[in-house]
Amino acid sequence: MNNKLNLSGIGMTSQRTRERLLGRLMDQGITSMEVLDVMRSTPRHIFLDEALSHRAYEDVALPIGHNQTISQPYVVARMTEAIVKSGSVSRVLEIGTGCGYQTAIIARLADRVFTVERIKPLLERARKNLRTLGLRNIEFKHDDGSLGWEQRGPFDAIITTAAPQRVPEELLQQLNDGGRLVIPVGGDESQELRLIQRHGDEFEERVLEMVRFVPLLFGQVQH
Ligand code: SAH
Repeated sequence: MNNKLNLSGIGMTSQRTRERLLGRLMDQGITSMEVLDVMRSTPRHIFLDEALSHRAYEDVALPIGHNQTISQPYVVARMTEAIVKSGSVSRVLEIGTGCGYQTAIIARLADRVFTVERIKPLLERARKNLRTLGLRNIEFKHDDGSLGWEQRGPFDAIITTAAPQRVPEELLQQLNDGGRLVIPVGGDESQELRLIQRHGDEFEERVLEMVRFVPLLFGQVQH
């Protein structure tokens, strides 16, 4: 069987394993049917190396090389739900493409997604994965995303999948009026997952829960 085209994952991961993951997401409080549907129908095993693909439907973060991880499905669902439920998702910016799993989930709910990754080989892998899934509403950029992507803004929503010590002012400035930023903030051990909504020049902030992401780093990496 050609694994690249094996989107169903039959043989590697049973349908039952995938349904069990959906059950876990619901048990943990994910209620949006559109988010649950997209989580159910987006294969996660194609984002992983073959040696790890049998663990693709466990609700855990897993290594993707370059000291980075694919996000935990629950956290992807939570961040996606937070922005989908709170307003428009016409133009969405993602900082930290990684292997592209969160990108795939949000691209199926948003009109256009702009995603920035500082490690070039990861960005190239994400590009390939997302092409495999037939997603064409995504624009990629190899760069340090801590300053956002001003030329493509303003955005209805910004999802940051790596954690800075404090919220970069540039990201707040690239939100539309009513736009939302979902971002983990804090040190290496754990961070607050914050949902920040812009109302004119005011920013309303809520802490959703504690999470653990890799740090947001500065500069870009070629290899
Ligand atoms: N969104 C991914 C998670 C990737 S882990 C998923 O769905 O699985 C976080 C990613 O953020 C890593 O690939 C890391 O290289 C990237 N990253 C860290 N700092 C960054 C920065 N300043 N700009 C862009 N990407 C960054």
